Amino acid sequence: MNDPDFPRRIRDAGGRVTAARVAVLRCLAATEEPLTPDEVLERLAQTAGPVPDRVTIYRAIEWLAAHGLVRQLATVGRAARYEAVEDRETHAHFQCRGCGQTRCLPAPPPPLPPLPIGYVAERVELVIHGLCAACRAGERR
Ligand SMILES: [Zn+2]
Ligand SMILES: [Zn+2]
Repeated sequence: MNDPDFPRRIRDAGGRVTAARVAVLRCLAATEEPLTPDEVLERLAQTAGPVPDRVTIYRAIEWLAAHGLVRQLATVGRAARYEAVEDRETHAHFQCRGCGQTRCLPAPPPPLPPLPIGYVAERVELVIHGLCAACRAGERR
């Protein structure tokens, strides 16, 4: 539980190691799905120990995102979603328009279309929008 790797990653990124940054990073790294800041708060509230307040969590996520330790996904609507940046490559996501649930898709991303001469890609992200199984079942009723 007390993985010393998270404080080190924060220090390596040039930041002050705070309890909130470590807790948020650990929470996002331990979760299979990208989370909104409120979901991070919910999960931290279920663990032992002091829970940072909402503003502190938002600030911690902002800092972690600005320093490349977590990534904000290009999802639509509702709150922004974040996941820990692991050593693994960027992967595609599925976002349900019914419940907002967003899942990581482990398959390798499709090849990129060629760019016009002189263009440079800075960020590529694939988000598939649709309905999850539960929401589809609900719509058919
Ligand atoms: Zn859904
Ligand atoms: Zn993901």
